[in-house]
Amino acid sequence: MRNYVLVIILIFFLIFALPVAIISCSKKEVRRDEPEDKLYLNVYDCKKDQLITMEFEEYILGVVAAEMPASFHIEALKAQTLAARTYTLLRMISFGGKGCSAYPGADICTDSTHCQAYTDPHTLGKDYKKIYEAVSSTKGEVIVYEDKLIDAVFHSTSGGVTENSENVWVNKVPYLRSVLSEYEEHSPNLVSIQEISIDNFISGIMSLDNTVKLDKKNIENEIEILERSDGGRVLKIRVGNKHFSGRDIREQFGLNSTNFTVEIRSNRIVFTVIGYGHGIGMSQYGADGMAKRGATYIEIIKHYYTGVDIVPIESL
Ligand SMILES: [Zn+2]
Repeated sequence: MRNYVLVIILIFFLIFALPVAIISCSKKEVRRDEPEDKLYLNVYDCKKDQLITMEFEEYILGVVAAEMPASFHIEALKAQTLAARTYTLLRMISFGGKGCSAYPGADICTDSTHCQAYTDPHTLGKDYKKIYEAVSSTKGEVIVYEDKLIDAVFHSTSGGVTENSENVWVNKVPYLRSVLSEYEEHSPNLVSIQEISIDNFISGIMSLDNTVKLDKKNIENEIEILERSDGGRVLKIRVGNKHFSGRDIREQFGLNSTNFTVEIRSNRIVFTVIGYGHGIGMSQYGADGMAKRGATYIEIIKHYYTGVDIVPIESL
């Protein structure tokens, strides 16, 4: 009787368990033969306050979703994808980058004022499909200048002309040159007006430099724009007896850009500001405008980043 039971168990093993074991082993073999082309990075999630390892293309999807409205043209979203991918790769420790300086061990963080904005792709709802298409159809493509990854900076709205890098930052970067950005008329930030009281203006100026001397009663003669870039942005402005950069004034008064004029109207300082952002590299609204007029993402990128090429990550 006992032998009979053992024989049944043996037959069961040969018929069911053995084939299952063989199949599962061979599956593992197949998996090992697949090319391992996935890239991973360490992202510090500032909302969750933790370091998360993410698959590279999945992370890029979350960045594009956070940095550009999904309502933009698919070719503009593709251009944004390449900018995001290039920006990210340049900072990745495994690619020789320095990582995120705020969080040790992180390649990048999700603080938009420090590294790069990020939205969890699972929260995108109906926008997911379009952004997924932009990312997957350009998979692994990055922007290089003379075979090196570029600093793919971008901004919302240039106001008609982008800026040379040295007019905003110190370095003259060969691919960050001033170019026309003609199709931004649909941007809500093409022109903005900001007013403040004369007293608030003066106290703001004093917090930049408390040695400034100016005559409040004669304020219209105390503010003078001295120098503008070719793109129209204020490089130097005199307030009272001191000179300031356009950037100082923009940051102090929260202006949308450094392309502004100043007027005195009924005892108030009125700034009229053109565009939104630093004005360097790709204009997002300009990219969308170009795409709506038939430009491809390659044309958009080559327009805003002078002399660059698009290559697959594997070629680096
Ligand atoms: Zn960071």
